[in-house]
Amino acid sequence: MNEIQYTKTIKTVIETDVLVIGGGTAGFGAAIAAARNGAKTLLIERLSILGGMATAGLVGPFMTCYDNDAEEQLVKGIFDELCLRTEARGGAIHPSKVEGMTSYSSYYMASHRHVTPYQSEILAVVMEEMLEESGTQILFNVQVTDCITKDEKIDYVIVNMKEGIAAIRAKLYIDCTGDADVAYFAGVPTWLGKKETGIMQPTSLFFEVGNIDRDKYLGELEANKSNLDNHVANCFAKYVKEAKANGDWTLDRNELGNYEQNIPGRWKINTTRIAHIDATKTSDITKALIEGRRQVQEVIAFMKKYLPGCENVQLIQVATALGVRETRHIVGKYELTAEDILSRKHFDDAICTFGYAIDVHNSTGGGVTFTCVDKYYTIPYRCLIPKNCDNMLVAGRSICGSSEAAASYRVMPACIAMGQAAGTAAAISLKSGVCPENVDIVNLRNTLIEQGAVIKD
Ligand SMILES: Cc1cc2nc3c(=O)[nH]c(=O)nc-3n(C[C@H](O)[C@H](O)[C@H](O)COP(=O)(O)OP(=O)(O)OC[C@H]3O[C@@H](n4cnc5c(N)ncnc54)[C@H](O)[C@@H]3O)c2cc1C
Repeated sequence: MNEIQYTKTIKTVIETDVLVIGGGTAGFGAAIAAARNGAKTLLIERLSILGGMATAGLVGPFMTCYDNDAEEQLVKGIFDELCLRTEARGGAIHPSKVEGMTSYSSYYMASHRHVTPYQSEILAVVMEEMLEESGTQILFNVQVTDCITKDEKIDYVIVNMKEGIAAIRAKLYIDCTGDADVAYFAGVPTWLGKKETGIMQPTSLFFEVGNIDRDKYLGELEANKSNLDNHVANCFAKYVKEAKANGDWTLDRNELGNYEQNIPGRWKINTTRIAHIDATKTSDITKALIEGRRQVQEVIAFMKKYLPGCENVQLIQVATALGVRETRHIVGKYELTAEDILSRKHFDDAICTFGYAIDVHNSTGGGVTFTCVDKYYTIPYRCLIPKNCDNMLVAGRSICGSSEAAASYRVMPACIAMGQAAGTAAAISLKSGVCPENVDIVNLRNTLIEQGAVIKD
């Protein structure tokens, strides 16, 4: 590709204390926590809606926020407020009321007890309300495209706005882009997918369907659930097999992930699979979206032809954002590994607790490897602190952790909890006049616990 030089005076410069980049689940938690703890906070989001994967990606339900034995709720704080408020609005069912092996959990059991079904449209509104109440300023359609750095600090981020190119200067930045875009632009070292190979987990495009004969459909699911073991639900395996034999199913997956929402008869379908995609590249994202939409049509035709109760199934909507499980991981002060998670390693600087399984989607064919954790594990604060940048924190799926570890903590309750920790740390950092790395960890943990977070040993 040819190179050009381009010089321009930027006339729009916005200033704030804390800039949160990315309004997904991590950014939502981070901005509310920073604002509630006294920092002037601006949240920018490149799309026109909050929620990231939870809304534009139509991903759902919130995966379990309980321990692996489904006994104790481990993610509370801002996450629980969001669930309760969305439920009060008729847009969710609180996780305490949702069991595994039901239509809400796609008849899975392990790590699928106490999931949170929600309606993306209502969730987005509740997120906006909570952010505005916290005093956070929100700006949509703002995308970070570069950083100006000085002495291992970000001086400005460069953004695209409707007005053109602009700059935003903050005292502290929290990268919640999922892809670690800001960290990458700031020169923080990162790696893609599995460190040794660069292979990333496959992408998927979620969609929603309705107009199903619910009794007939549920009857079929219920009739087939007795064949399941504790980990893998595949109630429609026989139909997928038949469709494959007839050439009606070309997807690299043998199951239909179907999660009923709080509106009876409305389902989120997690089944398409587009592998070998690098979602930090525009051309790859485009290719995956086009192939994903094609696969949606194939799955709808499959449902109509093969699944009892789906004779008149209708497509309600297809996600506008590609479902990206994995891209960049930052190099931070500590790399969380699968061994840490499975051995429940103790961390003095733990900032949240989580219990979802290590759920690795095969990148080179169908299937998943699903490894349950021993009750729960914790995430250390150091995973949120990038190398070579003193005024930034990272929260969400791109923190410093191995590909396998991320296959657990990437799910949304953990992202909100990490966001809450990052936002709280940012506010404390500003108040105490030290960089995020030197924040008093006892103070941070106590503040998080006072504000509802669960941090176990
Ligand atoms: C197919 C699939 C199925 C999944 N299933 C589940 C599930 O059932 N339950 C569950 O809990 N989790 C599930 N997950 C995981 C979960 O959805 C994501 O890992 C999680 O939402 C990541 O949250 P995040 O806040 O880190 O990133 P995101 O939700 O991706 O949010 C990042 C936000 O940053 C914005 N952004 C990105 N770059 C920029 C930029 N340069 N400038 C400005 N804004 C930017 C994006 O538009 C987005 O809004 C699934 C994920 C996928 C892909």
